[in-house]
Amino acid sequence: MHNKSIAQLSASLRGGEFSSTELVRHYLERIKNLDERLNCFVTVAGDQALQAAEMADQRLREGNAGPLTGIPIAHKDIFCTSGVKTSCGSRMLDNFVSPYDATVVERLQNAGAVMLGKTNMDEFAMGSSNETSYYGPVHNPWDTDRVPGGSSGGSAAAVASRLCSGATGTDTGGSIRQPAALCGITGMKPTYGRVSRYGMIAFASSLDQGGPLTRSAEDAAHLLQAMVGFDHRDSTSADEPVPDYSATLDEDLRGLRIGLPKEYFDEGLDSGVGDAVMAAVDEYRKMGAEVVDTTLPNTGLAVPTYYVVAPAECSSNLSRFDGARFGYRCDDPDSLEDMYVRSRGEGFGPEVKRRILIGTYALSAGYYDAYYLKAQQTRHLISDDFKQAFDKVDVIMGPTSPTTAFAIGERSNDPVTMYLSDIYTIAVNLAGLPGISVPTDLVGGKPAGLQIIGNYFQEAKLLNVAHRLQQVTDWHLAVPEGF
Ligand code: GLN
Repeated sequence: MHNKSIAQLSASLRGGEFSSTELVRHYLERIKNLDERLNCFVTVAGDQALQAAEMADQRLREGNAGPLTGIPIAHKDIFCTSGVKTSCGSRMLDNFVSPYDATVVERLQNAGAVMLGKTNMDEFAMGSSNETSYYGPVHNPWDTDRVPGGSSGGSAAAVASRLCSGATGTDTGGSIRQPAALCGITGMKPTYGRVSRYGMIAFASSLDQGGPLTRSAEDAAHLLQAMVGFDHRDSTSADEPVPDYSATLDEDLRGLRIGLPKEYFDEGLDSGVGDAVMAAVDEYRKMGAEVVDTTLPNTGLAVPTYYVVAPAECSSNLSRFDGARFGYRCDDPDSLEDMYVRSRGEGFGPEVKRRILIGTYALSAGYYDAYYLKAQQTRHLISDDFKQAFDKVDVIMGPTSPTTAFAIGERSNDPVTMYLSDIYTIAVNLAGLPGISVPTDLVGGKPAGLQIIGNYFQEAKLLNVAHRLQQVTDWHLAVPEGF
């Protein structure tokens, strides 16, 4: 059962081959047997899942099921779920049970999807390796000594190891695409505003965007369809028409203009990953696409710009965790100030503290112009690069991440090397564009990702382009041994 795609599962459920309850039991059993090796889940919500499966079975019997009815999925532990703990990978929220559901959670639930549990993640989504989680690192199913990427590493590893059919994630600087690449699955970061941020714990509000992690682009189309749409509870939600993402998956790609930015094939790129990316590009050539050399000249400014903007926004967003209103409170504070200081000091881990310090510094009156204002200006330059590129091309392609999965511990004491893991993904968030990572060929037995970037609200095009590749190659069907 667990090797079937979402579309196949949906057909089996409707055909009565097995029930959602049987399917959910099967996945819960897999989680019980296999997750000890991976640590993908912070919380497994078995009882709730079986209740939801029963309701799905009823809908299936009544004949009013949709494509996601009865399909078992997992949510990154950054999405608020009423009645089930939402930790955000932090000690700060280790005891937090939200009184309401995030819009994404509510919409997927209304579509009939069954939540198996909440997945592990870097603390407050700050990281590229899942090593900053309060709940310990997630292990990559392709090699359990290696990281799955981050911050949606639990979701990516769970999908890759077939512990769920699909999962949600969030991407502030690459956290859906990079772990998707390192785990050999498909992950999409939609256009900023496409997916509601309501109930999605904020890291950097002008960059955060939720999206699906799945085994294929076709599955991604199904999950995304249920996630998107205007939400009046998110002031940056886009009120744009929602296309039928599955309807255009098969469109012909003859004449598609693919831009390969020279800055994405620099000396920092592992040569094996580069070859795997070009193997995918060759498949598009065979389908009649045209490859155009292009340039994104301000790519080098993306990481430094992000590491001013994201910490600045996080220092503001995370000020709400003060020991008074949410989550962790220290024992026996002797004054109000002592309560703030010790609750935050004990509740947050080192990476989160580093970001809060950098952000507070960058926003301080004396340095605001030198750092924050400057970063806003360079952010514009980065967006303009894409605008100019999209005058000449339909999509931009390149690697998702410069290397395959690295060893657990290898980069944890070297923040700058860690930050460079997102060198090809971060600019997309700064510009607010959609991007998808799809598996290419394995490199030394480990997955590598092709990143496809589209113009604003071109999710349907990206899914179409990704799906066509998956029709002519079987890279996305590779399963890690032992799972
Ligand atoms: N790795 C980046 C960071 O640490 C991006 C994280 C994300 O996209 N949430 O901030």
